[in-house]
Amino acid sequence: MSRHIPVRDLSPDPVRVHTPQPAGQPVTVDLYARREKIHVRAISGFFQNIRATLLYLTLALFFLLPWLQWDGRQAVLFDLSERHFHVFAWTFLPEDFFFLSWLFIIAAFALFAVTVFAGRVWCGYACPQTVWTLLFMWIEEMAEGGRNARVRLDHAPLGAVKLLRRAVKHGGWFVVAFFTGLACVGYFTPVRDFWQHLSTGQLGFWTSFWLVFFTLATYVNAGWMREQICLHVCPYGRFQSVMFDKDTLIISYDSRRGDPRGSRKRGSDAVAQGLGDCIDCNMCVQVCPTGIDIRDGLQFECIQCAACIDACDSVMDQMGYARGLVRYTTEHLLEQPGTGRYRFLRPSLLIYSAALLIMSGALVFALVTRTPLSVESIRDRGALFRESAEGMIQNSYTLKIQNKAQTGGEYRISATCDSFRIRLDDGGDRVRLAAGELATLPVMIEADPADITTRNARVSITVTRVGEPSVSATTENSFLSPRL
Ligand code: SF4
Ligand code: SF4
Repeated sequence: MSRHIPVRDLSPDPVRVHTPQPAGQPVTVDLYARREKIHVRAISGFFQNIRATLLYLTLALFFLLPWLQWDGRQAVLFDLSERHFHVFAWTFLPEDFFFLSWLFIIAAFALFAVTVFAGRVWCGYACPQTVWTLLFMWIEEMAEGGRNARVRLDHAPLGAVKLLRRAVKHGGWFVVAFFTGLACVGYFTPVRDFWQHLSTGQLGFWTSFWLVFFTLATYVNAGWMREQICLHVCPYGRFQSVMFDKDTLIISYDSRRGDPRGSRKRGSDAVAQGLGDCIDCNMCVQVCPTGIDIRDGLQFECIQCAACIDACDSVMDQMGYARGLVRYTTEHLLEQPGTGRYRFLRPSLLIYSAALLIMSGALVFALVTRTPLSVESIRDRGALFRESAEGMIQNSYTLKIQNKAQTGGEYRISATCDSFRIRLDDGGDRVRLAAGELATLPVMIEADPADITTRNARVSITVTRVGEPSVSATTENSFLSPRL
């Protein structure tokens, strides 16, 4: 059953699927129809070369990043057991979660800006689902042959050849999925220890669990689910219609040039036959990973992989026609052929871009000026104050100091009061902390009753990294005494 969704109809509601029928005929659409397997024809061309290059780059980045070292440790490591998240020069702790939320908001604005400008370019070129699906399709093609061979194999009875080809395909998929699982786990557990434990068969329960989970998720998503993830799981494709405007770059079939469609001999006079440039070869449909016909207009299923452009361009080359029957364009340009210009400066694009720049700049500033130290003081709830044998008034606190730096170091604790002189008891004002270490220390502050001028004074407790005065953090608390 062919499906047709009119141009600009990006409704996610599957009830609105239209099926070409003779006028007046009711249309029945099964909302729970079985998925029809899509046998995608491989295609090469300008845009597919870009996709392949990006595929190599993103895969290389993904698999090599966990092995990169920075300052003597893994450069990118989300160490859940230690609750330390290392990203190159920075170490984040759970209380820095705010930076992560900020990063997500920036990523959202980046996606909005890119979508308003160039549509679903992320989906078509860089989304992990697209990248891994492309990789799995290559394996499938190597194991089972081209599109026609795969269709024949699907219909062939189960025999030795079919079994062998299927085994090679699924074996290849599984190997890629397994190495993907290994790489994923390497982002969450020190990768060198992990591989050592793997080689000696000493993986813990949770490490094994996540390895199996990531392996299966990759195998199922890229091998079996493929376009179903884009169509039914990923929310991005569904809300793109909100972000598209008439100047967003889309991939579109030029119906003014292509219609009426029809097959013809190469070199024949299409005008005399009353035909447009589309020879109705269906190549653009056969290469589409989501199984749609771009000639039906803009559809929410289109991930803008540009395979149909490359396919149609190669057909146009063979026919001796100009390229670009299917091309990147905008709705405005399609409506005003030859007169319209691509409008780059649009309010939505400017607003998203400005928000993106401001938020990214603020995040960089916050990261660069971030103090790799946090200090918190809690008053001793047991007693408001104490009087020592020497007659000094003492207040007790619990001090929490966290070294957020990449290296260990010594820290000096000092205390000041605006109203009168105080001092830390017993001179125990230094502490050594390892990288990322959180120390909980009892701290006693005392004052001579003769100096005390107020019943409730504010005290500041400052912790400074020895040798690096700029690495300093202060916490405030109250100092209570029995009299004025
Ligand atoms: S219609 Fe074209 S660009 Fe869209 S998903 Fe299909 S092949 Fe890719
Ligand atoms: S590939 Fe081009 S010529 Fe062939 S059916 Fe598609 S639009 Fe028409």
